[in-house]
Amino acid sequence: MSALILDGKALAAQTEAELLERVERLKVASGGKTPILATILVGDDPASATYVKMKGNACRRVGMESLAVEMPASTTTAELLARIAELNGNPDVHGILLQHPVPAQIDERACFDAIALEKDVDGVTCLGFGRMAMGEPAYGCATPQGIMRMLDHYGIEIEGKHAVVVGRSPILGKPMAMMLLQKNATVTICHSRTQNLPELIAQADILVGAVGRPEFIKADWVKPGAVIVDAGYHPGGVGDIELAPLVDKASAYTPVPGGVGPMTINTLIMQSVESAEKSLG
Ligand code: NAP
Repeated sequence: MSALILDGKALAAQTEAELLERVERLKVASGGKTPILATILVGDDPASATYVKMKGNACRRVGMESLAVEMPASTTTAELLARIAELNGNPDVHGILLQHPVPAQIDERACFDAIALEKDVDGVTCLGFGRMAMGEPAYGCATPQGIMRMLDHYGIEIEGKHAVVVGRSPILGKPMAMMLLQKNATVTICHSRTQNLPELIAQADILVGAVGRPEFIKADWVKPGAVIVDAGYHPGGVGDIELAPLVDKASAYTPVPGGVGPMTINTLIMQSVESAEKSLG
């Protein structure tokens, strides 16, 4: 039996249609105000510029505006903090996205944490992470939150399952593990010092690849019937998991591309609309 495809592209498109209606309703209710997501791009990394552009385009598709803030590669931490403070204080801005990574001289963590909680629609602040981990309201970090939305949409059972998350970055692996724990999975977090990775992966009912290395996780490590979530994306259209042999072995999987990626941007936009609804509605 072939596996269920967790189609992030289709789910994102469906959600965009719903968001467009919500934004329209909000505009009517607020006397014509348009929700605004501020995007901050520091430096001239082409990949980051592309991601910011994609996020701006997604805003426009649902009737929102994006306020594109571009700062030079020489920007200091103090300059970026000042710009974030300005956006925090601007009542017309409902969400703030600081594109990651920022140039090395900037204290990225300090800048993430300067974003006001109610505008942290990308879910990058320590406060938001802590609240989410404690089951308190906060916007989830966009990539893992998008994955959770996809698992929920496709009816993937999480409670009592053994979820193995490979990667522990602040924007992906760590929040992913906490979100799965919140849904009552038993969670194992693996990282670069993990000693028995194949044995741990073989126990996974739900496997999340968030390693950043092309096809690093081998198909023959994976238990038949597992649910495969591949957050990676690399040139040539491959992820962090060797996916092709799993199409008939897994019970469900996220395609690469078209799985996790579209849900990340969609979650950012959805959380921006939620923030605007709280502020304008
Ligand atoms: P990252 O910050 O580089 O983190 C990679 C993680 O993998 C680290 O925790 C690292 O462990 C772990 N790791 C590295 N080598 C390992 C090994 N040999 N065995 C086990 N674990 C190992 O990357 P990231 O930002 O979390 O991104 C991970 C992947 O997701 C990348 O492919 C990225 O492109 C993708 N991504 C996709 C989206 C999207 O929207 N689709 C968004 C973000 C990221 P240590 O902590 O010990 O170093």
